[in-house]
Parts: sequence; structure tokens; C-alpha cells
Amino acid sequence: MPPPAQMNGRDADQLDAGRTLRYFLGLGSNLGSKAGNLAEAVRRLEARGVRVLKASSLYKTEPVDVPDQPWFVNAVVLVESGLRPERLLDLLQDIERGMKRRRGRSKGPRLIDIDLLLAGRRVIRTRRLVVPHPRLAARRFVLVPLAEIAPRAVHPVLRRSVEILRRDVADGSLVIKRPGAFWTPAKRIRPGRPAKEFPHDQSRT
Ligand code: ADP
Ligand code: MG
Repeated sequence: MPPPAQMNGRDADQLDAGRTLRYFLGLGSNLGSKAGNLAEAVRRLEARGVRVLKASSLYKTEPVDVPDQPWFVNAVVLVESGLRPERLLDLLQDIERGMKRRRGRSKGPRLIDIDLLLAGRRVIRTRRLVVPHPRLAARRFVLVPLAEIAPRAVHPVLRRSVEILRRDVADGSLVIKRPGAFWTPAKRIRPGRPAKEFPHDQSRT
């Protein structure tokens, strides 16, 4: 028998049966082990059932909004999830809270910020969620890593590709790529979680 929430084929937290959405998430940290905080956020996303498909490099970035604070490390990840956008935001905020609480800080520079940048081609404007993220097109620290992994993704409101937005952005703040991979699919091999990227998980070889 199906679980109660799915009896009528719908679940308020989920997209319609069997559907998933591809989301781009922006990650940032400027406190503590910055790269480690980003990696921890990705691990927590995966532990909560969000499938990470791609990640940009890490970037060292100059603070934009409040200049008098440490530089950030930023990255962008592409994920896939059956959660509706509002529920994914809940999950992102839960992970943010969990990581902040563990380190015992509540104010000041951020241990971790996770922003929902794009949700497929959906346009959302509610009190707590605006997608595409309102400052996506104005920030080099988002556009540069996003363009690294998805130059042809289209901003559904501006109707321009990420590559064009990056080329034309007025923000001149420094965004410096760090060498080496931040996250690769190989890192997520785990027993019981076959992934189709890995041929040894499939019978045809
Ligand atoms: P910042 O704008 O610097 O990321 P916060 O992380 O503190 O600031 O987010 C402030 C609020 O932005 C959150 O309470 C959240 O409800 C709202 N918000 C609106 N749209 C989005 C989005 N696309 N992604 C993340 N948060 C969003
Ligand atoms: Mg945020």
C-alpha cells in the first residue's frame, strides 16, 4: 500500500508523482574553514536525499554588499530533487541553521549561505522565496561559477543566457578561481546508492 501522503497521487511537499526539478544553488562562506563549510553543506544536501549532479570550482571572492568583512569562498552546484521549491528552501535553511548552531555563532560573517538561484525555468515570487534569485544577475560571485557549469542556462525572466549575463554584468568585484576540483561525482559513491554515471553499477559492460 502506498504511504498515506501519496494515496491520491499527490504530496504537498513533492512535485507531481515521479517529477523532479533541476535547481542551481549558490553556496558561500566567509568564516572558519570556508571551503570545508561548502563541502559540508554539499554532504548534508546529499544526506537529505538531494542529488548533486555538478559543481563549479571554488572561487575566492571580494565581499560586495558589506565591504568590511573577510573575503568569501563561493561555488555553485546543480542538484536534482523531487521537492517543491518552497520545501527545498526549507531544507536549505535547515542546513544553514544546523551548521551555524553547531559552531555556536549567530551574527556576523557567515559560516554558510545557501541560495536558491534557479528552479528549472520556473518563476516564483512569494513572501519568502523569489526565483530566479533577485540578485543573481547583478553579482559576479554568482555568475562566474554558474557560467562555469551552465553557460547556456537561461534566466527565465531576463531571457538571457548565464554566459551573456556574466559577460555584461556591471559588478567589477574580484572573483578568483581556485585550482582543483571542489566536488566530483566519484566522491559520492556509497554502498546502496548506485549512480548511473558509474558503468560498474550497470549490467551492460
Ligand atoms: P542573502 O540575501 O544575503 O542570501 P539570507 O540568506 O539571510 O540573505 O536570506 C534572507 C531571506 O531571503 C530568507 O529569509 C529567504 O526567505 C529569502 N529568499 C527569497 N528568495 C530566496 C532565494 N531564491 N534563495 C534563498 N533565500 C531566498
Ligand atoms: Mg541566502
